[in-house]
Amino acid sequence: MRQTLQKKILREELAKFNSFFDGNDLYQKVSKRNHKIGIATVYRFLKRLVEEEEIHSYLCGKRTIYSGNKDNHCHFVCKKCGNINHFQIKNLDFLNIKGEVCHFQIDVYGTCEKCLK
Ligand SMILES: [Zn+2]
Ligand SMILES: [Zn+2]
Ligand SMILES: [Zn+2]
Repeated sequence: MRQTLQKKILREELAKFNSFFDGNDLYQKVSKRNHKIGIATVYRFLKRLVEEEEIHSYLCGKRTIYSGNKDNHCHFVCKKCGNINHFQIKNLDFLNIKGEVCHFQIDVYGTCEKCLK
């Protein structure tokens, strides 16, 4: 019974994110509502949803982040200053993939505008 309640809270809080979040972001929200939900439970929950393809996971620097509604996570990384700019790709047609895409991540490396000046 308690398990079901915890899952309900996890699902409700997860649904409130409309962009990227990490395990700790979700933990902060659910632990406010129910202090019995531990960080390990949150990560188990997220892992299962990724396996079931309900949410996608990406690597952002050293952080694992998640999203239920964004199917891509892209970086433009400046090799000079290390600055990371995020961007989203709206249309996948240029990839010319035959089949169904779940999600993708692109890391583009170069020199940012600031460093070019
Ligand atoms: Zn996915
Ligand atoms: Zn990122
Ligand atoms: Zn730079």
